[in-house]
Amino acid sequence: MRKSIVRDLVILIVIFGMIWGIVSVFPIFPEKIELLSIDREEELGELYLEIIQNDPTFSLIENQELDSIVEIIGTRLIDGLGKSRYEYKFYLAETEMINAFTLPGANIVITTGLINFCESAEELASVIAHEMGHAENRDVISRLVKELGLQILTSSDPFVMGEVTRVLSSAGFDRKQEKEADLFACELLENSDIEPRTLASFFRKLKEDIDNDLLEKFEIVSTHPNFTSRIRETLEYIPSEDFEEIEIEVDWQEVIKMIETQ
Ligand SMILES: [Zn+2]
Repeated sequence: MRKSIVRDLVILIVIFGMIWGIVSVFPIFPEKIELLSIDREEELGELYLEIIQNDPTFSLIENQELDSIVEIIGTRLIDGLGKSRYEYKFYLAETEMINAFTLPGANIVITTGLINFCESAEELASVIAHEMGHAENRDVISRLVKELGLQILTSSDPFVMGEVTRVLSSAGFDRKQEKEADLFACELLENSDIEPRTLASFFRKLKEDIDNDLLEKFEIVSTHPNFTSRIRETLEYIPSEDFEEIEIEVDWQEVIKMIETQ
């Protein structure tokens, strides 16, 4: 009698195990973002860029000198990243606000206020690397789906579109997503021959200046109460023994002058 109970139990466990295995390999409820192809995401990115271009709070600018600086930093990171499903594009927004955010399809917007706040090309690289983490992890598109719904994203209603850009440029990723983007940034910086702990020193500077009004909506400070642990975790990242930093060849003082004379 007891033997048959044990046997039944074993059979039950095996059946549960098989069901669990099948469900985890072929999810019954796939992530909604998987319904959105990379091509479609890139199309959405183009659409949101157009909206942002027409929004006076962002005023995207073209400045040959500054664009080439961002290009040098971006290229270093893209080379460090290697293969990606995205083609990265960087845009400059002229505003005192300190911010950087990622639109769907790996379109990264950087404000002149952020460049002015950074003390080196490496600091700016660490912020861009964090944003690239959100792009690679598809955090941006999953957040939009979560907050606004898949249907709304493809709407052409101007009010809805305005809402989309508000969501994109403001804080709102969860702690897990921020943590993953920080780790991604450290690894990417290391692969790009940039000291990964630059991100930690940048965070510390932000923390000291957290009451700065210009930081109000900075995407990177979205988990503000958790900031100390993010600094610690980023500092704890140890690059491999053969890591050697190669300075980004940009005269940062000149860059700041360019911003001031903009
Ligand atoms: Zn972030």
